[in-house]
Amino acid sequence: MFIVDAHLDLSMNAMEWNRDLRKPLSEIRRREAHMTDKPDRGKGTVSFGELRRGDIGLVVATQIARYVAPDNPLPGWHSPEQAWAQTQAQLAWYRAMEEEGELVQIANKAQLEEHLIRWESSDDERKPIGYILSLEGADSLITLRHLERAYEYGLRAVGPAHYGPGRYAQGTDATGFMGQKGQALLREMERLNIILDATHLCDDSFWEAMDHFHGPVWASHNNCRALVNHNRQFSDEQLRELVNRGAVIGGVLDAWMMVPGWTRGQSDPRAMNCSLEVVIDHMDHICQLAGNALHIGIGSDLDGGFGKEQSPYDLNSIADLQKIPELLRRRGYSEDDIQNVCHGNWLRFLRNAWR
Ligand SMILES: [Zn+2]
Repeated sequence: MFIVDAHLDLSMNAMEWNRDLRKPLSEIRRREAHMTDKPDRGKGTVSFGELRRGDIGLVVATQIARYVAPDNPLPGWHSPEQAWAQTQAQLAWYRAMEEEGELVQIANKAQLEEHLIRWESSDDERKPIGYILSLEGADSLITLRHLERAYEYGLRAVGPAHYGPGRYAQGTDATGFMGQKGQALLREMERLNIILDATHLCDDSFWEAMDHFHGPVWASHNNCRALVNHNRQFSDEQLRELVNRGAVIGGVLDAWMMVPGWTRGQSDPRAMNCSLEVVIDHMDHICQLAGNALHIGIGSDLDGGFGKEQSPYDLNSIADLQKIPELLRRRGYSEDDIQNVCHGNWLRFLRNAWR
């Protein structure tokens, strides 16, 4: 089954985790098994080979770099200019992977259709994986002119916030509104037809964004507050708003967002009963609110700062996303629904947005 994954931090893994995603997963793990600088060392789940093995032929891939003011305890860059430069390094890696034939950038409808046909018809073991460029957290946009520059190199979705206070919007664990600067960003996104990724917006900024943005909205990687109560998740009211706007919401596989009571660095997926089945609970919750299966998809976020230690225990690599169709089938989802969840909903969204 062809799968679209709407959230992967591929270039962050290349440039900050120092992972060469062209290598087999076993080799990537072995190479860093002795390292202790990050909790997920030796436990990665994503490589180009595993994406192809899992028939994951289209992904939304991020640029990500936070700016932190002196009083912000989160990790990040000390100036927007440094953050911008980091995203340009990430872009340079995507370009290098395109030159190697590993990736192909998808930035419009014609490229999307062409890629889908090519992916379907090719048996090439090294066929390029399509990627749509997204920016997670807008801090690195030094000015709004930089958004236009980014659009020109292929940026097609922006999540204005990530964790904490941002320059254009307030994110997870923060509170407060987007204000004039954030609203100006939304207007510029609308002018350029850039997709708004509502993920990570705090409640205040979320509702402000819904009031001021009239373009396409998705939530690339978001689970449900009703099942795991945290401000990072969306409330039923927010999910209904997203559904009403035609959004697709990607189910995310970071264990702490799947099961309640997770303690980072301590909890164990098996002990917490965190299996892939759990993400179906979140997806199903959204389907019950929507009254259909047209607004959910996969936005796994695998290797987004965590590895196997904080992923469903029945997932060893991203290729195991292929278990999701059968899990949906067992819940009574029709074959049409399953195709929509695995790829159809994201594709419909993109075809509408890029019409
Ligand atoms: Zn995220």
